[in-house]
This record gives sequence, C-alpha cells and structure tokens, in this order.
Amino acid sequence: MVDYEYNYYEFSKRCSLYKKDMIFPLFVDENDKFQELNVMPGFFKIPYNSIIHFLEKIVENGIHSVILFGIPKLRNNQATTATSTNGIVQKTLRLIKSNFGNKITTITDVCICQYNNTGHCGLLEKAKKIVDNDLTIELLSKIALSHAISGVDVVAPSSMMDGQVQRIKKKLDTNGFNKVKILSFSAKQCSSLYKPFRSETFFNKSVSEIDKSTYQVSYYNPRQILREIEMDIHEGSNMVMIKPAMASLDLIYRIKSIYQLPLVVQVVSGEYSMIKAAAANGLFDETWYILNLISELKRAGADKIISYSSLNISKYLL
Ligand SMILES: [Zn+2]
Repeated sequence: MVDYEYNYYEFSKRCSLYKKDMIFPLFVDENDKFQELNVMPGFFKIPYNSIIHFLEKIVENGIHSVILFGIPKLRNNQATTATSTNGIVQKTLRLIKSNFGNKITTITDVCICQYNNTGHCGLLEKAKKIVDNDLTIELLSKIALSHAISGVDVVAPSSMMDGQVQRIKKKLDTNGFNKVKILSFSAKQCSSLYKPFRSETFFNKSVSEIDKSTYQVSYYNPRQILREIEMDIHEGSNMVMIKPAMASLDLIYRIKSIYQLPLVVQVVSGEYSMIKAAAANGLFDETWYILNLISELKRAGADKIISYSSLNISKYLL
C-alpha cells in the first residue's frame, strides 16, 4: 500500500517547500458565529471571540504569518468602520499582538470594499458614480495608519488606486510608523476568480459581480502589469504581490527576473474553490495538486504564498 503521507513529505523535501513561506488568509468576522464558507468548503470565517484559539492551532502547525481580512457588522457609504479604533481588524491586531507578540507576523488587507455599500474598492464621486482615486487614497492612508497604531507589521493596500503606496507611506512615516512594511497588491488582475470571496463577504449577488476593470489590471497587457509593479516599488513598497496565481507563472517569472523585492502570490478564492470541486469529484488528489502548485509557484519565483490551504497542508511542509 502506498504511504501517501510519506510521499507528500518527501516531495516537499525534494522541492524545498517550507511552512515559513506560507501565509494564511484569516477572515475575521465581527459576528460571533464560526461559519464555513458556502462556496469554499473547509474554509471558515473566524469569529472575533475565537481568534486566539484558532491562531494557537495555526502556530502549532508552524504557520507564522497571517493576512487579515475584516468582515464588519456595519457598512456605510463612507466606509467609516474601516478606520475605527474598535474596528474588527484593529481590535484583532491588538488581540494578536498581546497574545502572540512576535510569534505571528500580521499583514492587513487595506481596502474599503468590505466596509462600504457598493462593494467597489474606492469611494464614488457623487455626481458621476465613478471611483474617486484621490479621495480613496486619502482614506486608505487613514486605514493603514489605524492598523499601524493597533500594531500591524505589514499593511497590504489592495484597492489598485494610483498613488496608494506613496500616500500610505507618507502617512505612516509622518506619524512615526516607518518600521511598518508595505506589501502592495501591485498587480491584481481583473479576474472572475475573486467571486467566491466577494459573494461570501457581501451575501449579495449583484455586488459580488461588480465591474472593477477600470482600476484592476487586465490579463492581456503584461507591460501594464510590469509598470504597476515598477510604480509601486518606486513609491516605496517593500514587497509586491501578484494575483491570481495559477495562470500567472509567466508573470511571476518575469517579475522575479527584473525586480529584487520579495514577491508574494495569492492563490485566490476561485482557485481554491476550483481545486476543491475537482477533488470532491474524484478528479485528482487535492493534497498532491496543492503541493505541486506550490512547487510550481516557487519554481517560477514566488517567495511567499498566500493560500487558503496553508493550514491543511502544513504538516507535509518542512
Ligand atoms: Zn477591495
């Protein structure tokens, strides 16, 4: 009989797959129910009151980096809960830092789409109903500052607004938080693969399908993708990110060949759901596929990988 567990671990050894390279995406829910996501089987929104217990499990399994996505109870047009001292992300950061200190590196998603009513990653101009870039980056810088005050290690602006990194860096530096790092979602490609995340955070089909093509980067223009990366580096980003991951191996390779900064990739919700659906239908072995995928991403040049499967596969990593 084949010892699958042994083979998984041997594969990780051959491919140098490390737990320290994995980042766990943590959906922190202000509602106090532990809830499996409908379209992402095996993945849960974690209620605020269970965060410590859940993170103990993460740390025991050798994962020491998390990226926090807040799911607030309240949303409004101005996304005011995104900057609140007692916002869901801010209070979770304080909880993590007071209980785990430096054992966990905290990264926070800095955007407004979970906090406003439109689901757009920017504030809308009143008259034209289009995203107001400059108004949005000012708000993003305030969100980043509120995370810094609450103890974050790395802020990760994800709204794809022009000049967001520069504005955030200036805000952090002038308020004495120059040690807080910036990981920019530099090349967030306009993709259908974010739908599971959006539909789970909004419970509203029309919002989950909104068109973000005016600010996210298109798949078919690699030069624009490289330009986005270059601009973010120029503005002061310490690390850059590209997503989705599975169909971006060419870009990962190119980016890593040109730029020296750490490169993070995210295996997004739609990619997770596809893998789960195929495995549930007996089309392939889920663990094998995920280990293969991680090795491909690393081979292409990824330094760190955000994956919803991080915890489940951690026991097979070095
Ligand atoms: Zn967003």
